[in-house]
Amino acid sequence: MTDSIDFRRYIRSIPDFPKPGIMFRDITPLLAAPEAFRAAVKAMADPFRDQNITAIAAAEARGFIFAAPLALELNAAFIPVRKPGKLPFDTKAFHYELEYGTDTLEIHTDAFEQGDRVLLVDDLLATGGTMEACVRLAEQAHASVVGCVFAIELTFLKGREKLGDHQIFSLIDYH
Ligand code: 5GP
Repeated sequence: MTDSIDFRRYIRSIPDFPKPGIMFRDITPLLAAPEAFRAAVKAMADPFRDQNITAIAAAEARGFIFAAPLALELNAAFIPVRKPGKLPFDTKAFHYELEYGTDTLEIHTDAFEQGDRVLLVDDLLATGGTMEACVRLAEQAHASVVGCVFAIELTFLKGREKLGDHQIFSLIDYH
């Protein structure tokens, strides 16, 4: 069925959001269409079905939307990566550089198990800064990163170049 769905039709493009000059790709029409959303999750899982994925990790907030159903689809654990101060148990922080300043993400210290094979998820790959931080956080936690999957990739920003040799799949590209 996924062959017959043009996922691009379910993405709304909003000029000048959140600031002038930015074309924001809005996923909410896709989320509002259960058949298309379900097909999108299945298509995002397809390249990774035979790869013994044991955990899916994603940073809040929009990453969670795809990561939770992907975890169920691939029968893997879902691991939330969160902004500081949100997780209730013992946490490990990961600090990373942004264009202007630094940011921090946290995971529970027991989030990954020894030998976990992790698929990292986000809604959209732009400059790659967010996903690069997730890759390094997972690697610091001694998980083995198998790949990264996105609903949307803005290819002209070359975010892939920050993600090393990992397998990368995106459902919709904007050039
Ligand atoms: P990056 O770190 O790759 O530059 O930016 C990716 C992050 O920013 C993702 O977590 C994503 O949610 C958010 N983001 C940036 N631009 C957009 C956009 O146009 N649409 C959506 N849905 N998310 C965006």
